[in-house]
Amino acid sequence: MIDQRLAQADCTKLEELREILSQQPDAGKLCSIGMKSISIGHGNMTELPGAVARLTDGKKVLMVTGPTEIVDKDGAPIKERIYEMLKEHYEVEWLVMREPGIVHATPENAAKIQARFEGVDCVVGVGSGTICDLCKYATYYYDHENPLPLVIFQTALSVNAFSDDSSVMLINGVKRTVHSRYPMILIIDLDVIAAAPAEMNVSGYGDLIATWTAPVDWYLACELGLNDNFHTAPSVMIRDQCAKLLENSARLKAGDTEVIGDLANVLTLSGLSMGLANESAPASGSEHVMSHLIDMASGVRKTGICYHGTQVAVSGILSCIIWDYLLNEFDPSKVDIDKCYPSFEEMEPRVRAAFDWLDEAHNASEECWSDYQKKLAGWHANREAFAKFLANFDAFKETVRPWVQKPAYIASCMHAAGAPCHYKDLNYPVDAKTATWAITNCHLMRKRFSVIDLLHYCGVWDDAFVQMLIDRAAALDAGL
Ligand SMILES: [Zn+2]
Repeated sequence: MIDQRLAQADCTKLEELREILSQQPDAGKLCSIGMKSISIGHGNMTELPGAVARLTDGKKVLMVTGPTEIVDKDGAPIKERIYEMLKEHYEVEWLVMREPGIVHATPENAAKIQARFEGVDCVVGVGSGTICDLCKYATYYYDHENPLPLVIFQTALSVNAFSDDSSVMLINGVKRTVHSRYPMILIIDLDVIAAAPAEMNVSGYGDLIATWTAPVDWYLACELGLNDNFHTAPSVMIRDQCAKLLENSARLKAGDTEVIGDLANVLTLSGLSMGLANESAPASGSEHVMSHLIDMASGVRKTGICYHGTQVAVSGILSCIIWDYLLNEFDPSKVDIDKCYPSFEEMEPRVRAAFDWLDEAHNASEECWSDYQKKLAGWHANREAFAKFLANFDAFKETVRPWVQKPAYIASCMHAAGAPCHYKDLNYPVDAKTATWAITNCHLMRKRFSVIDLLHYCGVWDDAFVQMLIDRAAALDAGL
């Protein structure tokens, strides 16, 4: 029985949400939500000085932003307004993060923020995902025990990662999710969100396409003995509300304020779902690794990084097709278990070859192999769980069927939302060769197990299979 109070959760009512979560079966497996409050509303930007006052009696605020100008619907600059507003109550230092091209969430940039921490009482991050990730990381790694109070003012619904305790960092050229901390207070002003470029909100909508693939990957990994923290609550909390968003795709495209408000709530809940699981697994499966690989190749390709969510959503259509294959065409009786265990000697050159071209120092391939071998070891160690999984495959299918969506439905919703459905239509177009490389090799990048690993180990995942996926996506006016 699904707890309807959880299925209709409201992230701005944190106390109520904590109470509902504590009443779920196996609630002890869920981590606590380390946030003080979340505010979503029209014109609630004015809550910022009060939010700082709730966290500190001190007077010095470090305000961190990116270099891009953000304006409200009347064209007035928002960051300047926030700066002035904070200055009425505090001594404010405004740090603008800059680097040639796009600002990345790197440990080097986090160090630039940390260099300003002397005497600071509270950090206020204003911006989208990268600034939030940097502020969370910088404060946490400066002082684990007692990180500086952090308020985040979210300026776009671009990703779900504002309300969790991790940061997606670019480390040695590889995207890695690392543990950091929650912002203590998150403020989302819907008037600011409404003025953000439409692609940003479509990006947040796109990030949520992972709801139909990532939790199933997470459950699959659990069934195969590769994790023990699976819980249904993180996904139950958002699934019905995500389904409603899909139904409202056309209204989102039209800029309907009610739907944008719903998107803000679900996206924030999706962030919380990762915190509850203590990892990004509830919201990041095979669709995210495809997207991560495209980001990793951007340096060599000398191009920018696409809006995260829009890229994830295009990949999400492919992941939906993969799940559709597994649930409707995969035949467990054809699997020869003895042939499903490639050795380390066999896999190491394959992993290295997939990533070696990304940098001359081979940092990326080193990083990927060091993580991948943990997955391979786990796979070898849980042979019995795999045999049991194949024997009980029908029961598995029955459990997960309500958690997935048909690829054709997802693609049609994305078309209605005005979300790009082809890699070549992203804000930095991704060519067919790069996209095909990313799809083909994404499972080699990290230790987290997904449906692609299963198909790979079962001997199904090869170039012809990837081409079949691409053809099926093309039939939905999606993919390359
Ligand atoms: Zn994401």
